[in-house]
Amino acid sequence: MTNPAQAHAAAFPFVPTVKLLINGELVESSAREWRDVVNPATQEVLARVPFATPEEIQAAVASGKRAFQTWRKTPIGARARIFLKYQQLIRENMKQLAAILTAEQGKTLADAEGDIFRGLEVVEHAANIGGLQMGELANNVANGVDTYTLLQPLGVCAGITPFNFPAMIPLWMFPMAIACGNTFVLKPSEQDPLVTMRLAELALEAGIPPGVLNVVHGGEDVVNAICDHPDIKAVSFVGSTRVGTHVYQRASLAGKRVQCMMGAKNHAVILPDANKEQTINSLVGATFGAAGQRCMAVSVAVLVGDARHWIADLVSTAKTLKINAGVEPGTDVGPVISCAARERVLGLIERGVAEGATLELDGRRPHVPGYEQGNFVGPTIFSGVKPGMSIYDQEIFGPVLCLASAATLDEAIDLINANPNGNGTAIFTQSGAAARKFQEEIDVGQIGINVPIPVPVPLFSFTGSRASKLGDLGPYGKQVVTFYTQTKTVTQRWFDDNSLSVGVNTTIAL
Ligand code: NAD
Repeated sequence: MTNPAQAHAAAFPFVPTVKLLINGELVESSAREWRDVVNPATQEVLARVPFATPEEIQAAVASGKRAFQTWRKTPIGARARIFLKYQQLIRENMKQLAAILTAEQGKTLADAEGDIFRGLEVVEHAANIGGLQMGELANNVANGVDTYTLLQPLGVCAGITPFNFPAMIPLWMFPMAIACGNTFVLKPSEQDPLVTMRLAELALEAGIPPGVLNVVHGGEDVVNAICDHPDIKAVSFVGSTRVGTHVYQRASLAGKRVQCMMGAKNHAVILPDANKEQTINSLVGATFGAAGQRCMAVSVAVLVGDARHWIADLVSTAKTLKINAGVEPGTDVGPVISCAARERVLGLIERGVAEGATLELDGRRPHVPGYEQGNFVGPTIFSGVKPGMSIYDQEIFGPVLCLASAATLDEAIDLINANPNGNGTAIFTQSGAAARKFQEEIDVGQIGINVPIPVPVPLFSFTGSRASKLGDLGPYGKQVVTFYTQTKTVTQRWFDDNSLSVGVNTTIAL
């Protein structure tokens, strides 16, 4: 009698399986449910990914719990040196990692290297953990008494990541958690887990001990098991608002720390005094790069006053973008992640037309010679977009730009603050006063000033407002050290042999 893993191997003899990482070993899952990892430019099945069983999730968490007993006591310098080695290995393997990422995710090779590089920066930051995980000390807070804090690891932490940055976002999570002395269970996106697994292998090669990093695959059931597991102390999530809200509620109810970075509808405000050429180039790059599948993509441009006359130039610049597979040189816009994602984007474009927006550039059904099966959608631009239209109210997550207009900067700010999402925004202007007003009055996490929505470098933390974030502390940067550690506050007094003993009615007065 064959078990499910053997039956699976017999059914798909030439397609590799994605392994689980449990206790330092890459293991074949005995899952019954599997899913294809598909190249979005060609529909080639690259691998099959399992949906881990409850026993496998239990084994991963138990391995993390065991490993925590020694890892938490590992000196900070020893932890830091692993991440020094790890950043070197990522650099050495950059081309291979980018090729895997492009094959399974679709973005261009240059963009894939950017995805890895932004994660690599967090690994470099983790190598500096000695300077980051320091407590505070106040000397002589009372007579002969000192108070100080210890930032101690929590135990097993978990991360749940989305498809759109399969290198950067896992690297936002496990390096900092592990550098702080925790162990980790990672659940990558089931749509593109291959580059994440290669990064996990390199982490082992860098010296992460068995059980300190574990990886399980799957979807809803695996995520729910992570939220419920009593031995997981903290959960980091990045993905859609719908799923993130569920994860936040479920994991919080189970008593865990939770941080959820979620969906976006990022507006860029264009004032008429902005440098026109630079602004249009920035907008086009930020909207259509990675086929619009960035949480920091600009998806709405608010043209203020006379900037409304820029539409024709914007459209003609967007028309110059080359739509092709991510591996082809010179590609600007690759495919979206799946056939289902493409159908969803096309459906929203149809609704935009039906609901009365003006289709200035129609990217439906582009012809991509040699990649006729790919999930391509070309750059698409709508003008006259208003709240209440589906293309405004929903996160499209494809190469679609909505143009709205506003008479004044105040009107533009009101529009953005009324949108439920608060992930990123940008303003383009040559007026310092306007930029400063915008920075002060806008209720959005990441703000770009003449920069089309930057992901903060790891000296800072990623953040978000309103429906884009749940939890107080953001991923990576200073905030995540607080998230991944328990602060203990110690107040101490030492007596020398000649001192008087303290009676029961004596308190240490502060
Ligand atoms: P998603 O929410 O569908 O999936 C994220 C993770 O949740 C995946 O690991 C997936 O397996 C799991 N999941 C999916 N459905 C689930 C369910 N019903 N129950 C429990 N778990 C489930 O997100 P996605 O489509 O992979 O990624 C795109 C989304 O992520 C966009 O909304 C984008 O804005 C957002 N995102 C946000 C940030 C940020 O920092 N704010 C960064 C990147 C992506």
